Amino acid sequence: MISERCKKLKPYVPGEQPKDKVYIKLNANENPYPPSPVLLNSVKNIDFSKISRYPDPDSTLLRQAISKIIDVRPDMILCGNGSDEVLSFVFYAFFESAKPVLSPELSYSFYPVYAGYYDIQLKKIPFATNYSVDLNDYLNKDCSGVIFANPNAPTGIGLSCETIEDFLQKFSSDTVVVVDEAYVDFGGETVIPLLKKYKNLVVIRTFSKCGSFAGSRLGYAVANPDLIKVLTTVKNSFNHFPIDYVTQQLGIKICENWDYYKNNCKKIIKTRENFVDYLKKNNWTVLPSMTNFLLVKHPSLSGEVVYKHVRDQGILIRYFDQDGMRDFVRISIGTDEEMESLKKILDTIR
Ligand code: PMP
Repeated sequence: MISERCKKLKPYVPGEQPKDKVYIKLNANENPYPPSPVLLNSVKNIDFSKISRYPDPDSTLLRQAISKIIDVRPDMILCGNGSDEVLSFVFYAFFESAKPVLSPELSYSFYPVYAGYYDIQLKKIPFATNYSVDLNDYLNKDCSGVIFANPNAPTGIGLSCETIEDFLQKFSSDTVVVVDEAYVDFGGETVIPLLKKYKNLVVIRTFSKCGSFAGSRLGYAVANPDLIKVLTTVKNSFNHFPIDYVTQQLGIKICENWDYYKNNCKKIIKTRENFVDYLKKNNWTVLPSMTNFLLVKHPSLSGEVVYKHVRDQGILIRYFDQDGMRDFVRISIGTDEEMESLKKILDTIR
């Protein structure tokens, strides 16, 4: 009854959402701040009678609004139901089964899931020193593409736009390079300006992090119009209407009020740096993060012990039971108050 293909699937495991009590949630890299009052107010102006009709399949007005905040043409944008869906289209459209796609040994854990789903081999390239990606290690290898998050997840470490351009200059212009910028707004450097020059570059963005919009599912790809046409064909072969009417309306409002969200990112960066100071003073190992999370290691206790201790006291953080990660926990940056609560708990850990 179950296909062989389906039996082989290894699904993505998201951050837990327990319902037994109210936890402070620092385990899914969500934004701790609510959407702007402008967005919340705009809900009453949405014409809900329109939800009896299908939404605009191409999210035309939403793409126009996004194009203004990232300064590219609307035909360089494709919207999807969260960037996870956009990533799925990208894997389907650009990577081959016969040749591997290259990705860092640790990066977003959905990449291997999609590779498995589409029967694409994912070749993991080991980190250079200190968990950093050296793009020179991705050159001169037989592959059907490259994908990495920048800043990377779960390390938080970012590469400069200059470093990525240097790589693109040396890399095959016929092979797609995907840069997933889910966390770029928390101190990373975008490669969107490089799209004018490099027709094989695809940038992935999400409203889930900076946009305080994870619950509504909205992400997008940015690339030259020819690649966007290919992605649109994939989208229309899978789900013609990935963005519902209400999400399109709200997404436009977020773009119109983008300064509010950028300001929240600044607050989160400040909170992160204060929390880094605290951890370093207490002898934790802290990877240098340009994101809204930190990958950190207690001086003597395993990641699992730290995770359980913190969870027992009502805060969720993330522990990964996989090679190379068992000493670490990943902590999303919350509000100052939430981080103070976490500090109090960490002070009691021995
Ligand atoms: N890329 C990276 C690197 C992520 O960490 C995430 C969120 N877990 C995503 C993409 C997907 O984000 P969303 O589907 O919410 O847009």
